[in-house]
Amino acid sequence: MERTPHIAIVPSPGMGHLIPLVEFAKRLMNNHNISATFIIPNDGPLSKSQTAFLDSLPNGLNYLLLPPVNFDDLPQDTQMETRISLMVTRSLPSLRQVFKSLVAEKHMVALFIDLFGTDAFDVAIEFGVSPYVFFPSTAMALSLFLHLPKLDQEVSCEYRDLPEPVQIPGCIPVRGQDLLDPVQDRKNDAYKWVLHNAKRYMMAEGIAVNSFKELEGGALKVLLQEEPGKPKVYPVGPLIQQTGSSSDLDGSECLRWLDGQPCGSVLYISFGSGGTLSSSQLNELAMGLELSEQRFLWVVRSPNDQPNATYFNSYGHNDPLGFLPQGFLERTKNIGFVVPSWAPQAQILSHSSTGGFLTHCGWNSILETVVHGVPVIAWPLYAEQKMNAVSLNEDMKVALRPKVGENGIVGRVEIARVVKGLLEGEEGKGIRSRIRDLKDAATNVLSKDGCSTKTLAQLASKLKNKS
Ligand code: UDP
Repeated sequence: MERTPHIAIVPSPGMGHLIPLVEFAKRLMNNHNISATFIIPNDGPLSKSQTAFLDSLPNGLNYLLLPPVNFDDLPQDTQMETRISLMVTRSLPSLRQVFKSLVAEKHMVALFIDLFGTDAFDVAIEFGVSPYVFFPSTAMALSLFLHLPKLDQEVSCEYRDLPEPVQIPGCIPVRGQDLLDPVQDRKNDAYKWVLHNAKRYMMAEGIAVNSFKELEGGALKVLLQEEPGKPKVYPVGPLIQQTGSSSDLDGSECLRWLDGQPCGSVLYISFGSGGTLSSSQLNELAMGLELSEQRFLWVVRSPNDQPNATYFNSYGHNDPLGFLPQGFLERTKNIGFVVPSWAPQAQILSHSSTGGFLTHCGWNSILETVVHGVPVIAWPLYAEQKMNAVSLNEDMKVALRPKVGENGIVGRVEIARVVKGLLEGEEGKGIRSRIRDLKDAATNVLSKDGCSTKTLAQLASKLKNKS
């Protein structure tokens, strides 16, 4: 049997989970000689970006796809968190088969799941392999997850109806309606799955979280307090996708365009791998950008009334540019560049022409913008993004947040105001300086003797001592 320590990683679907897990695995491989197999649950073919990303895994990291699960019985309106959890749960028999051969061939030391995959722990335990969580979101969300079983006992109404904000241990108070989507309706299966997974986090031998002290000091202080029965928490972030990674499909044209723009002048706009705007919001955003007269690079998706419509396939089905207001492309051709569906985000954020990022506040996007020191406009859409927007705007103070009108839409005048404010205004200056401090802190924690590097080494040594 091969003696190199080996880990199995079962990611939840979606690029936002895969990207940081691959970075995590690369570091374990390159710095600590721990190899990994990604075992991918799915309900059909992966997206182009996922396949390209997985096909370019370096030596020591490989992947295999489990047989697709069947979701024909699920109602149309089944929420994302239920689908993700069920994808893992329904894959357990095939996961067991894979584990059997991995355990026979490799020196298996751990299974890592992320977010909603804790049912896979049972298989790991059956084969004597240690269960771990890699938490790809905020320390704040992790603190909420660990606190949720207690909150569930103490509160009888919907959290959004609570008169006072919820006090997540170590964090700024958050209004119930800003908590993550799946806890907004406690009768929905999505809530039950989140609670189920949150309770099972206690079974983990450790939880690696993609964050660092200078970014989320309060939450991490509480998470790092050791208590009997509580898994040890390892802050190893910020682990972000490297520039030039092969999820960067079809990107050269927009990078060439960026090369020709003045330093720090362009607002990059992207709603992550799955975010979508309604048709009227898409229209209003276009008009707002035009009104702001600022340079922009926009990843446009086809509109949809569901904010996470393309989560499982970023490309959607239609040509997104056809949904822009008539004449928009022509009128903005000297200041704007639009890219359909997917752009090389890591390269865009590290480009010197990029001066701001209008983001849906997915955690990877936030970490990427922090690492590259790019100021933010926070435009949350789904999942835990509203909580992230509250932290960025009220706690870290590195983001402007446009006001949503009474009709639920952010109007063009408000959009133009925040865009100008970020790129040209006084508010933007303060934000730029604060995010540069965070950028320096991120560089520090990842340096040779930095906190996150040392924490990862501690975790690696715990994994290696499993023999
Ligand atoms: N991403 C990208 N190009 C795009 C959209 C997204 O490279 O056009 C990458 C982005 O850099 C990030 C990830 O996909 O690493 C999205 O993760 P995030 O947590 O920001 O959002 P999610 O997609 O999970 O909502």
